[in-house]
Amino acid sequence: MTEDLRSLADDMLATMYDAPGIGLAAPQIGVMNRLIVMDCVKEEGETPRPLVMFNPEIVASSDELNTYEEGCLSIPEHFADVTRPADVDVRWVDADGNERTETFTKLWATCVQHEIDHLDGKLFIDYLKPMRRQMITRKMTKLKRELARE
Ligand SMILES: [Zn+2]
Repeated sequence: MTEDLRSLADDMLATMYDAPGIGLAAPQIGVMNRLIVMDCVKEEGETPRPLVMFNPEIVASSDELNTYEEGCLSIPEHFADVTRPADVDVRWVDADGNERTETFTKLWATCVQHEIDHLDGKLFIDYLKPMRRQMITRKMTKLKRELARE
């Protein structure tokens, strides 16, 4: 693990906590690297659990599904129900260069799948029915145009 990648991961965690969000993928900040960070601990007073994952890969998914209302820092102010496998086994390389495998459940499972999708250029709106996806895409295009004008 290079020092550059580690400091990139630290920057991404800071950006994510600032947003605030529970996950961030490098492509979202314009870095084409297979790197994601996440922390789904949301309860006040609970110990944070920042995860840095290089080359994360889903190695197994449960047949059981789960639906969560998802949002995304790349698509501000839009949320939609997305159904995904309820549990996933993920293999990745951590910030110390060690290979790790863990089973994620509940919100963690949804989050890690959402973030890995970013590495493959996929957004949660890709899971929605065409009508709803078009509506969000149109609003986002409009928003981007307005921001560009400012
Ligand atoms: Zn996202």
